[in-house]
Amino acid sequence: MKLRMQPPPHCDLEGDVAQAARSGQWPAELRAHLDSCPSCADTALVAEFLAQPPETEAAVPDAGLLWWKAEIRRRLEAQEKASAPIRWAEGAVVTAVLACLAYFLLVPLPLDHWPWIAAVFSVFTLGAAGSWLFLTGERKAGARK
Ligand SMILES: [Zn+2]
Repeated sequence: MKLRMQPPPHCDLEGDVAQAARSGQWPAELRAHLDSCPSCADTALVAEFLAQPPETEAAVPDAGLLWWKAEIRRRLEAQEKASAPIRWAEGAVVTAVLACLAYFLLVPLPLDHWPWIAAVFSVFTLGAAGSWLFLTGERKAGARK
């Protein structure tokens, strides 16, 4: 079954109805016609609506304010994008330190290995702490710019 769109019903009095709706001058027979003709009733409704003055003016913000807000947003997005690798590196450092701590706490090691392990762990911990301090300082310096 093929559906075909029906053209809207047309009435020869629609032009007169639109004119009467715009002017507000309704002849009695034309007003009575609206009750029996849905097409003219719709035409009258739309024409009356369009003839009304607008209730409020559209509030358009100042162009300078819009530009300023867009500029702030652009800067914040650029800052967020630039600091993403630093946040990733911080997460990697913290994860590595926690993994080393867990390894040394959970894996039983012979006692004669502890001085070597302590040395490696100290160097690694100092390196991680230094990296963290450097990255944190870079982020604070970037935030001040
Ligand atoms: Zn009609």
